[in-house]
Amino acid sequence: MHRLILIDPEPASRAHLSKRLEGLGYAVTLAEDGISGAGLALADPPDAVIADLWTPGASGVQICRFLRSEPATAMVPVLLRGNESDRRNRFWARRAGAATLVSKGRIGELLRVLDRELEIAPKRDDFFMQLSGGMMDVRERIARHLDVTLFESVIAAEVRALAACDTPERLFDRLTQFVSQVHSYRWLAMYAPDLSFFAIHQHPEAADAAEDSARRILGVGAAQQAFRLEDEDTSDDLPKADPIVQTISLGQTPIGRIALSPSRKGEMESSSILTILSRELGGPLRVTSLVEETRRLASTDPLTGLLNRRAFNQWMEHEGPRAHRYEHPLSLALLDIDHFKSVNDRHGHDAGDAVLVNVALVVRESLREADIVARWGGEEIVIALPDTDHEGGLRACERVRAAIEASRITTPSGASLSVTASVGVASLRKNEPLDMLVARADAAMYRAKSGGRNRVVSDSQGSDAQAELPESERRHLEEQPAVSEPRDLGVAVDARAVANG
Ligand code: GH3
Ligand code: MG
Ligand code: MG
Repeated sequence: MHRLILIDPEPASRAHLSKRLEGLGYAVTLAEDGISGAGLALADPPDAVIADLWTPGASGVQICRFLRSEPATAMVPVLLRGNESDRRNRFWARRAGAATLVSKGRIGELLRVLDRELEIAPKRDDFFMQLSGGMMDVRERIARHLDVTLFESVIAAEVRALAACDTPERLFDRLTQFVSQVHSYRWLAMYAPDLSFFAIHQHPEAADAAEDSARRILGVGAAQQAFRLEDEDTSDDLPKADPIVQTISLGQTPIGRIALSPSRKGEMESSSILTILSRELGGPLRVTSLVEETRRLASTDPLTGLLNRRAFNQWMEHEGPRAHRYEHPLSLALLDIDHFKSVNDRHGHDAGDAVLVNVALVVRESLREADIVARWGGEEIVIALPDTDHEGGLRACERVRAAIEASRITTPSGASLSVTASVGVASLRKNEPLDMLVARADAAMYRAKSGGRNRVVSDSQGSDAQAELPESERRHLEEQPAVSEPRDLGVAVDARAVANG
């Protein structure tokens, strides 16, 4: 004989349905409200539960979710009764995992579904049932279940809100800020290969060991730099449990991994937290990478990979006023490739492009990381040297000039050639507008051209700056004063080299 629990607060309809069910041979236990119905079901799991959608105490929807989450009753079908034409009711019933939602008057339909559910229900495991039945406080367990559900949805909402972060660094920082509030861990790490982004949040004292084990479990190579956040929001427990890892996916596509080293306190919940994070992080991570990619494309010159003029101007608008305010030195150089038109004319436009790419690379590699190199337009490159005074700027540009002259370029057609460049250098004066600084560097560059090309010319001609240069470099600059006899070797020499090769 099948045993049913019928939860219905209305005495008349309860009596009516139970009579009909008993007439069909079911054993029916009655309950007036959701909590007592759930208690009965847990204490001795029935074959099916029939409940009103909105019962006092706990609603049918909540009871349904609760019974699904309890191992003893996870397989017990729950049939809900309520207004089935209401779209929201249908939504909640489905979300709760109910077998059906049927209007209260439609008893025939309810019985039909009941029959079908009992037929397909798996055979009961009595041993398991007895284990979890009995004297638990149902009210407390329901409350705990609802808390967990609420907790999960709050975490999920927090993670989704990270989509507003426009860099992966910011995303990771904000992620750790709230995860460390709700969960105790030794370290939390994330790896997104497409973004070349590896980050770890860890305790200041455990730093290197934590990073090593995060790299190992996430499969991050040594070449990948780590973005490290260190603070005492993490736990300084010694490692006890092994770190755990989960894949971050977007739809079916894996886009990263997230790992966590549980602390003693957080050990129990670690994997469920990580599950929520990995499920929800895909979207925000993808948005962040699209934003970054868009920004990179908008600020990069596609041919040379240098910053473009717009990005350079943005940098100047930000850093120029700072240099003024803090009276930091700032030098600026304009570099123009010599006789570039003749490279195009003799070797073709593709060769010209190859030269541009190579010169860009040589300039970038000759300078410090903090120096800003951008394509100013055509075959002109602009260089900003922060925290660099005029002598320093001249020295750096001389290094760039010499490196360009020494470098050989293989064109797409296999020809080998080299070029030279002329450079003008100016340094920021007190209260000087930035476009004035650029204009002075430009004027110096033109003097380098008229002075014979392949040289660095200071804006402040005959400045005492040169006196402060080391002996070797001073000699070089003195050999090539701002106006000197033309020393126009660049492409001519190379054309010969090509002819020979
Ligand atoms: P100078 O020594 O006086 O600077 O001579 P130049 O030939 O370099 O000067 P000019 O300004 O007359 O020529 C610049 C040339 O650069 C003209 C243009 O065709 C070429 N150019 C500009 N942008 C590109 C590019 O992206 N690719 C290629 N291949 N050529 C470019
Ligand atoms: Mg030019
Ligand atoms: Mg030129």
